[in-house]
Amino acid sequence: MSGLDSKIIAITGASSGIGAATALELANRGAAVVLGARRTDRLDALVARIRAEGGRAEPLDVDVTDRADLDRLVALAVDRFGRLDVLVANAGVARIAPVADLDVDDWDQMIDVNVRGVLHGIAAALPVFREQGRGHLVTTVSTSGLKIVPSQAVYAGTKNAVRTVLEALRQESTDGVLRTTSISPGFVRTELVDHVQDPEQRQQAQQTMAELGISPDAVARAIAFAVEQPDDVEIGDLTIRPTKQG
Ligand code: NDP
Repeated sequence: MSGLDSKIIAITGASSGIGAATALELANRGAAVVLGARRTDRLDALVARIRAEGGRAEPLDVDVTDRADLDRLVALAVDRFGRLDVLVANAGVARIAPVADLDVDDWDQMIDVNVRGVLHGIAAALPVFREQGRGHLVTTVSTSGLKIVPSQAVYAGTKNAVRTVLEALRQESTDGVLRTTSISPGFVRTELVDHVQDPEQRQQAQQTMAELGISPDAVARAIAFAVEQPDDVEIGDLTIRPTKQG
């Protein structure tokens, strides 16, 4: 029996990339997954696939910039499956460009999705975790917050803001109720950089992903590893990068 057999896990950003791979991996290991994102056609297809393979899954139209949507996601887990064991706050956007380009709208979007979106998830899940007497928060931060490089300043800043919040939350939660895990992926082959606005930056990033990027399945396995530990074991930080990444 897997450590995930009875777990109820909500995942944001589950419509593609790391979130979708994590949904499949966790459902495959026996967890019930509640999946949030804006592209519901993708979520519906993923849920159909999980159910066809004998798993348990529910989709929900979620925009993480809207606090009420995270409340709805957590409520769906509790209503449908009786509780929420883990929130994987994974939704994120990367708008890569030098600071001097002053892409202020992109900065706002990264702050709204990558920082506010995770805080909304924490606000929705924490009261449920406290009431249950246990819970686990997992976030996908990034190696870009560990090794600072040009053109990723605001993106890396958002990821390090989340890392900081999770570490503080960990220190505030030594009563054993809450586990926190920050997952730091390196280059992972997903749609993330397809949304970079500047064509030159986008093409460069896509090339790096194609040459170096690892499968999102690798990150999904790391998340599963953290989640399936016994309640008294907290995997605080995990870095998963391509072996050839500098
Ligand atoms: P994808 O672009 O494939 O996935 C991003 C996910 O976030 C999508 O499911 C998207 O769903 C969702 N999302 C974006 N905006 C919102 C929103 N406002 N509300 C709800 N969901 C939203 O990229 P990845 O899988 O790579 O990204 C997943 C996470 O991993 C991100 O936080 C990213 O920063 C992080 N990461 C990725 C790395 C990589 O190399 N790929 C490296 C390090 C970290 P939809 O558009 O349907 O709403």
